[in-house]
Amino acid sequence: MILEKYSFGVGDRFGHQGKAQLQAMLQAKLLHVDIVPVWNKSNREHAIVKTQPRQVRQEADEAVKSLDWAGSYYVDADHINLSNVDEFVESCDFFTLDVADFIGRSAQATDISRFVESCMKFTGSLEVPGIDHKLSINQEQIEAIGNKYLLAVQEAGRIYRRVESAKGAGNFVTEVSMDETDEPQNPVELFFILAMIAAEGIPAQTIAPKFIGRFNKGVDYVGDVQQFAGEFEEDLAVINLAIQNFDLPKNLKLSVHSGSDKFSIYPKIHQALKKFDAGLHLKTAGTTWLEELIGLALAGGDGLDIVKQIYAKAYSRFDELCGPYATVIDIDKSMLPTPELVSQWSSEQCAGALRHNQTCALYNLHLRQLFHVAYKVAAELGDTYLGALRKYEAVIAENVTNNILKRHIKPIFIG
Ligand SMILES: [Zn+2]
Repeated sequence: MILEKYSFGVGDRFGHQGKAQLQAMLQAKLLHVDIVPVWNKSNREHAIVKTQPRQVRQEADEAVKSLDWAGSYYVDADHINLSNVDEFVESCDFFTLDVADFIGRSAQATDISRFVESCMKFTGSLEVPGIDHKLSINQEQIEAIGNKYLLAVQEAGRIYRRVESAKGAGNFVTEVSMDETDEPQNPVELFFILAMIAAEGIPAQTIAPKFIGRFNKGVDYVGDVQQFAGEFEEDLAVINLAIQNFDLPKNLKLSVHSGSDKFSIYPKIHQALKKFDAGLHLKTAGTTWLEELIGLALAGGDGLDIVKQIYAKAYSRFDELCGPYATVIDIDKSMLPTPELVSQWSSEQCAGALRHNQTCALYNLHLRQLFHVAYKVAAELGDTYLGALRKYEAVIAENVTNNILKRHIKPIFIG
C-alpha cells in the first residue's frame, strides 16, 4: 500500500461530512490535481465524542460509494500508541504512531552508542542537495539527538510491529508523529530521526515533525513565516537525502499536522513543494466541525439556537474544555463575548465571528478557538445535534466543501 504524492487528512468528529469532504477532492480533480482523502480521527476525539474506529471506516466507505470515487482512500488511526492501537487495527489502514511522550527519555546506552557510531560518517560539513549552505554536524550533536529521540523511535518500532503482526507488512501506511511535544525538531534532527526510523525497520511513508512556531487549533500560524519557510525547505531537502542514504520508502513525505487553517504559511508550503517536486500529507480535523457550526448558524432558526447553546455551555465550562488542549490554544478570555450578547446575534453575526476570515470585522479568533474545543458539548447534545446536521445538511455541506477546497487545497496544492 503506497500512499500517493498528495494526500489530505479530513477529520470529521461527528461522521456526517464524509461526502462533503470528498466533494472537495473531486472538485480538485477537475482542476487537474490528484489528492487522496484520508479520514483521520484520534483516540482523544473518539473518547470525547464516544465513537468507534469502525464508524469512521463506515463513513469513508459510504462517501466513496455514493460519490463513485474511483481512487484510493484511507482511514487513519490518528495519534495512537501501544495502549490503544488494537482497537484501530481492523478498521484502519493508515496508522499515525504518536511517540511524543517518549521524547527526551533516554534509550539504553549501548543502543545510543550504536546509533552514534552508525552516523559518524555524516559529521563535518554535510552537503544537502537543494540547500544553498552546508549543514555542520558534530558528534556531540548526534549524541544529543540519540539521547533525545532514540527511545521514541524504538517505541514507534514496537507500535509498528504490533500493527504489522495483525495486518501484515505492506497492507497499511505508517506515519511517525512527533508533533505533540514542546520543542520543534530542526532539519538536522529530522535527518537523524529518519536514520533511526530506517534502522528500526519502520517503513514510514509520512513523518510529522513539530515545526517552528505555534500551530494553535483552528486559527492561523503564529510565528516567523520566513523562518518557517526556510526550515520547511530544509526539511524537504533532508528527507530526500535520507531516502538516498537510508532504507526508507521512496515516497516518504512530510505530514503537516496543521491544527487546521494555517493560511499564512500555505503559500510558502506550496512554493517549497513545487521547488522540490515533493509530496505532502496535510492533516486537518477541527476545521470541518467549525464549518458545521457556521452552516448551522447560517441556517438560522433552531440551527442558530444550537450554536448559541453550545457557546453558552462552552463559556461556562471553559477550563474543563480547554484543559486537554492547553498547549495548542491561546484564548484571551477578556476577548470572548458573553453568552448573553451572543444570544442576541443574527445568523450573519454568529457565522461572521466564527468564520476564519481575518479581513472580516466580525471575526473573533478567541471565540473560534473556544468553539474548536467545544465539540464535547455538541456530543452531549446527542440526537439534537445530529438531527440538526441532517436537517441542515445542504447548507453545512456547501460550507464544508468550499472550506476544504478553496481555503486549504487551492493555496497548498494548486497555488
Ligand atoms: Zn498531530
